[in-house]
Amino acid sequence: MIDVRGVRKSFGPVPVLRGVDLTVAEGSVTCVIGPSGSGKSTLLRCINHLEKVDAGRVQVGGSLVGYREAGGKLHELPDRIIARQRAEIGMVFQGFHLFPHMTALGNVAETLVGVRRLSTKDASVRALAALRDVGLAEHADSYPRRLSGGQQQRVAIARAVAVEPKVLLFDEPTSALDPQLVGEVLAVMKDLARGGLTMVVVTHEIGFAREVADSVVFLDDGLVVESGPPAEVLLAPREARTREFLDRVL
Ligand code: ATP
Ligand code: MG
Repeated sequence: MIDVRGVRKSFGPVPVLRGVDLTVAEGSVTCVIGPSGSGKSTLLRCINHLEKVDAGRVQVGGSLVGYREAGGKLHELPDRIIARQRAEIGMVFQGFHLFPHMTALGNVAETLVGVRRLSTKDASVRALAALRDVGLAEHADSYPRRLSGGQQQRVAIARAVAVEPKVLLFDEPTSALDPQLVGEVLAVMKDLARGGLTMVVVTHEIGFAREVADSVVFLDDGLVVESGPPAEVLLAPREARTREFLDRVL
């Protein structure tokens, strides 16, 4: 479903991704782990073309993201086509990014109207169903400031899922939460994984990765050092750098 080949990205003179390959099968969960600054967020942002790659290519659902190929060259797609591609590549951030002046329902419905062109009425119906799926139907009319961090993140997840993207990318979705709120968000993500959503999750929650991931990728210094099933990468890593990282975070 996602195919990243030879992706390179620098900011100025600093190489951040130095030739990254990543394959994510349809319906699978890939967890990306790695030290701060290793390029995890940049990799997610390259997958949905929030960052333009310097080299390499990204395909989602069989289509190149951000470009079309003609005459052996890549040409960037017009913004409206890229927007259509992004609708298929949902993203959930550490900081929720809810609209503060809209209710939980409003946040989900507004996005459905904007991205999927639903009528206000249809969007509200679908938004309520999405909130119910994350256990927040009774908070549909609450504004974000009245919700806990865990509830806000569940609204953000409902908003992303309601759009029915082909894949959903999570960038440290629980890192901003008080420890006692992490579990409710991970539980929602576990449900989504069980439901067959294709997910890429940047996380420091090694327990979640061990339990839920089909594949774990250890990124260090802009390169995939090691990848494979959690039983291998997390429990019996081949590379010394993976072991050192896990010793630090576990
Ligand atoms: P963290 O675990 O702290 O979130 P990360 O693995 O997500 O780290 P990135 O955010 O991808 O790391 O950043 C990798 C490197 O690229 C860092 O050195 C960062 O400072 C740099 N960087 C990221 N975005 C930009 C940007 N827009 N302009 C310049 N440098 C950037
Ligand atoms: Mg990051």
